[in-house]
Amino acid sequence: MINDVNNLLLEVDDKLDDLIELHQNLIKIQSVNSGYMPTGNETEVTKFCSDWLKKYKISSNVFSRDKERGNLISKYPYSGNEKKLLLMSHSDVVPVENYDKWESDPFSAKLSEGRIWGRGSSDCKGLLASQMMAMSILAENEIKFQENFTLACGSDEAHGGRYGFGWLAENHPEEIRFKYAINEGGGSPVTIGKNLYYLLGTGEKGRLEINIKIKGESSHASVPWLGKNAMGSTAKAIQKILDYTPDLDCSTDIFSYLNLFGIETKPSVENLEIIIEEAYEKNESLGSLLKALSRMTITPTIIKGGIKSNSVPESIQLVLDVRSLPNQTESDVKEQLDEIFSNIEDISYEIDYMAKPNSSPFQTELLEAIKISQSRSVERDDIQWIPSVSNGFTDSRFTRELGVITYGFRGTHPDDNPNLENVHGTNENYGVKSLVSSTQTMLGVIWELCKPII
Ligand SMILES: [Zn+2]
Repeated sequence: MINDVNNLLLEVDDKLDDLIELHQNLIKIQSVNSGYMPTGNETEVTKFCSDWLKKYKISSNVFSRDKERGNLISKYPYSGNEKKLLLMSHSDVVPVENYDKWESDPFSAKLSEGRIWGRGSSDCKGLLASQMMAMSILAENEIKFQENFTLACGSDEAHGGRYGFGWLAENHPEEIRFKYAINEGGGSPVTIGKNLYYLLGTGEKGRLEINIKIKGESSHASVPWLGKNAMGSTAKAIQKILDYTPDLDCSTDIFSYLNLFGIETKPSVENLEIIIEEAYEKNESLGSLLKALSRMTITPTIIKGGIKSNSVPESIQLVLDVRSLPNQTESDVKEQLDEIFSNIEDISYEIDYMAKPNSSPFQTELLEAIKISQSRSVERDDIQWIPSVSNGFTDSRFTRELGVITYGFRGTHPDDNPNLENVHGTNENYGVKSLVSSTQTMLGVIWELCKPII
């Protein structure tokens, strides 16, 4: 039995073949979520995972709104009952758009060039494999902990979580209400010169869908003056949205840490655009991130209207994608939209919240545990840590709502650029180096946080 963390981390290296095989087997299960029932088939993943974990005497419970769309909860057996850490992931993957464009079958999980290729390899079966492997190594060595950690793998992440974490939060909140949680959605390494930064996912922008109706009056197209063409107001509305200049905001945490990137000017609403330019020059993705975190975005994405080529259209529907900052409420969004549409006739809109903006505090004992563990697993003691809010959203919004301090952090290896993983795209892939560093980081975080009894 090994009860020293460094030796446990070495076991991850020893078990590399098992780890790769676990990851590949997860990818081979086609848990594709189209968003339209019946879909997902995630119960097959939960069955595979619970059988695999059972070999290490870790038992699982499956909670399901639909029996084909199970959610896995696997509690670490050798620990006290205090709920300290939830290891989160999801079992569904997004559909493959065009099989012909893939260099290998997206569900064959081919290993080549130090990467595993397949749908879901990065999102999110890599993290799931790492969490399972970390848990199994601790269980195999019967390491006892004062406080508990539990693995929770949800279904339906890609389509709103109504069968997954969203449903669990409403129907079984006690299963996922832990003090801390670690999930996908953040934790990307950024290298500038020799410096290594990790952007810890402490929050997510909100996402709203705005459904706009623009009304006109139909007439035959040969006598258009007898009607009122809805395209007129639509054209004006689209132009005004495209010309919209959002208010700038530097209240998210990341703006307090810009000095770590060598940006010495204290950010304010007045100098923000200049600072963002400066960041772009240092690193393009940093510049783009700061741009996204300093404003609400309003983007027209769908337009539908007209029924016949010889009829003046009576109604046109326009859909906008809006991303709001953690401190922006629905009334802030309304205020912006009312201003944009102030001089446009016959326009009305409805707001549909897809995800509320959310965030967790940055300075916590989970951050300290992550710092120590990541530094150990990638052998760097000079990492700089930055709190970051992500543009997209994950299941973290459900646990944050329950009061769980949740971070997006996978433990990606700095040699792997997450932008090359093609998440949701053709030839999605995941680096073996990250699979290993992530497993070591997960193991280390558990070790630092849940208090081993040795
Ligand atoms: Zn995901």
